[in-house]
Amino acid sequence: MAETRTFQAQTNKLLDLMIHSIYAHKDVFLRELVSNASDAIDKVRFLALTDSELLEGDGDFKIKLVPDADKHTLTILDNGIGMTFDEVVEHIGTIARSGAETFADKVKAAGADAATPDLIGQFGVGVYSAFMVAKRVVIETCKAKADHAVRWESAGDGTYTIERLDKTRRGTRITLFLRDKDAPKTEGGDDEEDDVVFNADNWTDTWKIRETIKKYSDFIAFPVVMDTKKYEAEVDDEGKAVEGAERKEKIVEETLNSSKALWTRPAASIDADEHNAFYKHLSRDWNDPAETIHFHTEGAQEWTALLYVPSKAPFDLYSREPRRGLQLYIKRVFIAEDVKELIPEHLRFLKGLVDSADLPLNMSRETVQHDRLVGAIKKRVTNKVTGHFKDMLTQRRDAYVKMWDQFGTCLKEGFHYEAGSKDKLADIVLVRTTRGDGWSTLAEVVERKQAGQTALYYLTGEKLETLQSAPQLEVFRKRNIEVILLPEAVDEIMVGALDKYQDMELKSAAKGELDGLPESEEETKAKQARGDEFAVLTARLGKLLDETCKQVRISDRLTDSAVCLVSDSDGMSSQMERMMMAMGQSMPAQKRILELNPDHTLIQALRDLATKDSGDERLREFAEMLFDQALLAEGAPIKNPAKFAQRVASAMTFAVAH
Ligand code: ADP
Repeated sequence: MAETRTFQAQTNKLLDLMIHSIYAHKDVFLRELVSNASDAIDKVRFLALTDSELLEGDGDFKIKLVPDADKHTLTILDNGIGMTFDEVVEHIGTIARSGAETFADKVKAAGADAATPDLIGQFGVGVYSAFMVAKRVVIETCKAKADHAVRWESAGDGTYTIERLDKTRRGTRITLFLRDKDAPKTEGGDDEEDDVVFNADNWTDTWKIRETIKKYSDFIAFPVVMDTKKYEAEVDDEGKAVEGAERKEKIVEETLNSSKALWTRPAASIDADEHNAFYKHLSRDWNDPAETIHFHTEGAQEWTALLYVPSKAPFDLYSREPRRGLQLYIKRVFIAEDVKELIPEHLRFLKGLVDSADLPLNMSRETVQHDRLVGAIKKRVTNKVTGHFKDMLTQRRDAYVKMWDQFGTCLKEGFHYEAGSKDKLADIVLVRTTRGDGWSTLAEVVERKQAGQTALYYLTGEKLETLQSAPQLEVFRKRNIEVILLPEAVDEIMVGALDKYQDMELKSAAKGELDGLPESEEETKAKQARGDEFAVLTARLGKLLDETCKQVRISDRLTDSAVCLVSDSDGMSSQMERMMMAMGQSMPAQKRILELNPDHTLIQALRDLATKDSGDERLREFAEMLFDQALLAEGAPIKNPAKFAQRVASAMTFAVAH
């Protein structure tokens, strides 16, 4: 008995999008279904390497398309691994990927016309794309060695039926009951709106199917065949057509694809269209890739890598368990997907495959982990990709910047995961600086250094805008020294790993005493004199702020602002502290140093107050206000905002009245 079930909520939304899709290239449904069929055959072929019984005598792998104009159906059959009842429920009733909620959110945010390739491409829509051309879909499947078959059916209307059937041949058959309106387009007559909503292409048209397979699935490793009717004239004994006799209908199986593994071809012989089609098959992304990296190694180890950089970061790039890794082939036989041992964590956005001639065919997920050759491949892949990025940066800067916008944050994680190659990574990092016009490389910042400058300065924080107006930068502006602005959490990891670039030390503009700046002897003397002049004030404020500040001192950094906070040279920056807390690390509160601007009228007035008035009451209030101001300037929360607001109001009242 068939039971009726409801789709998971997010799946339903996706179905809805498919049905009402305004997406122009509806032909991609065929690519999706053929890709699934090819994956399923890959799986059974791999498992059969160690368990030949799985094949049950059927090792003639193929994907078959059966268009039926009379019934108005298109059927896709494969003799792949098949699915059990539970697998159908799990894979076809839900969006299998972790991002179901994200998907719903994105659709909501993107509005009604959300079914753009950009959005769809980020999710595994595979099977559901069938609803772009079909009003009803029936899946009949039988898993290798299973004791039952399954029939699944849905009209994409929120529910599906599923039932267990007697065992059949291994594999999956998907029947698409094509939309009524899928009649061949007639000139001019059609209602315009219908043209947009429904595909007027006829998916029982063999010519159309042939073209589509050639376009999207030519490289599929197994034959994609189609039953075509041929009409043959009756021939006599000599092979001559019998005059007047009726032509005979004959069904012939025609192979539609060339099955040539793309990566085995010389790189120069593959054109962009072929790469685009192959990438889409492999990644399930609906967009073209941004970059292709294809190389072959010979000698002691022979292997090929074909890698793609997507044009858009997937939604789950920074989730805890993103899908990552490359496909592994051994001598063109698919072994496993998502093999994360083949690429480092910070390159997890790459899609692609490695095909090795030297790994043993009985390789499993477990043996992959400890294999030395796999380790060597990963290293070589990392170097190749980093080299490719460097070439992009020097030769095609615009393309690199686009890539960086999508994956820069991820790449910077390499300073953590691949500390050994930090110098190579540093060469391809792009940063914002106080110069304010776009991205710079670290080398460019070094080139623009001032005479006598021996360190590269940076400031970390949470937002670029806050950093740009940070008081800590005032002295650098005055001296025309460029400061690198680092608004991302991962930047702390980068500067933690990178203490030097070329021969310039990397220093925080908000840590320790400022050195490395060019300074004349007179300036040094003037600094000492100022320290003495403000000694009473700094000592008294230091005492009053004992609990929150490590020290109060006169600043070299400020020109306009009255105060700022800095860390000890070996202290943790406030950004790092917030990051650790966000990760749930409990830490003793880090006390920081409050610096005063000796040229600021307020600080000068306080200096006079501190020497004249020995009472602590007023000075304490000012001390706390100074501290809160410094926090606000760096975008950090203050302890008691209401109290601060009251104090500002009363100070303003006083100013207005006098
Ligand atoms: P995905 O992008 O994950 O492939 P799909 O919706 O295309 O998303 O498919 C979901 C899952 O359903 C697949 O990962 C696979 O496990 C299963 N599946 C789909 N088509 C087939 C098939 N022809 N044979 C066996 N399993 C299939």
